[in-house]
Amino acid sequence: MIILVLVLLGLCLGSFVNALVWRLHEQDKLTGKKAKRAAKELSISQGRSMCPDCRHQLGFWDLLPVASWLGLRGKCRYCHHSISWQYPLVEVLTAAMFVFSYAFWPHSWTTLGVFQFAVWLVIVVGFMALTVYDARWQILPDRIVYPLMVVAAINALVVSVLSEDPMHLVYALVGVACLAGLFYAIFQVSGGKWIGGGDVKLGVVIGLLVTGPVNAILVLFVASVLGLLVALPDVFRKKSGLSKRIAFGPFLMVATVFVVLFGADLADWYTRQFLLL
Ligand SMILES: [Zn+2]
Repeated sequence: MIILVLVLLGLCLGSFVNALVWRLHEQDKLTGKKAKRAAKELSISQGRSMCPDCRHQLGFWDLLPVASWLGLRGKCRYCHHSISWQYPLVEVLTAAMFVFSYAFWPHSWTTLGVFQFAVWLVIVVGFMALTVYDARWQILPDRIVYPLMVVAAINALVVSVLSEDPMHLVYALVGVACLAGLFYAIFQVSGGKWIGGGDVKLGVVIGLLVTGPVNAILVLFVASVLGLLVALPDVFRKKSGLSKRIAFGPFLMVATVFVVLFGADLADWYTRQFLLL
């Protein structure tokens, strides 16, 4: 039953991610007079859902996650323009992430555990939006990163208070210092070439979430391994040298998911492999 609820919730929020990313990008593209007129139409809270091509308003049967896309064979009902497979993919991935997180949730289901899980689902939705945005336009927009920072900070504070463990908050700040501090240093040294300002801000969110220096190192380790695995084939084919900036954000976020869900096990394994041998 809970799984079913999580799947439906994930599909709907995945659908929200698609709309959010598209609207933020459309809003940022527009300037001046046109922007004012379009602002309401594109508002996330007020605007009605529409086709990205013909801007026809969508009805109930066009808005069912995945099902509508399949039913319409990936085409808009009104202008027959094809709709990217990104839409159903993001919906399915969000639902899958919800179920995955539930299955491997490391905390017990106390009030605090349930609170943390709810916060985590919000973070997952934010991460999905950031990943899509970063993959498409190589930017981690402030308007998604800043709210996530607030959510992560409130989470760290609430966990610290409810578990009567002030060290949790200290650890969260240490995590921030490690990740955001390192990214900021790289950002300064490379003049923003190797890493973007968005990655520095994302470092704050991730530091607050994973807490502590060991987990911060784990995030870096996992993200680097994933980044290398993806970048190496390109490097070998010499299509792009290492100079090309890779969108690092998605790797950091995937790594964060692993560390939040499997942090304790990973830390054990990591220390045994690299520090105590
Ligand atoms: Zn259309």
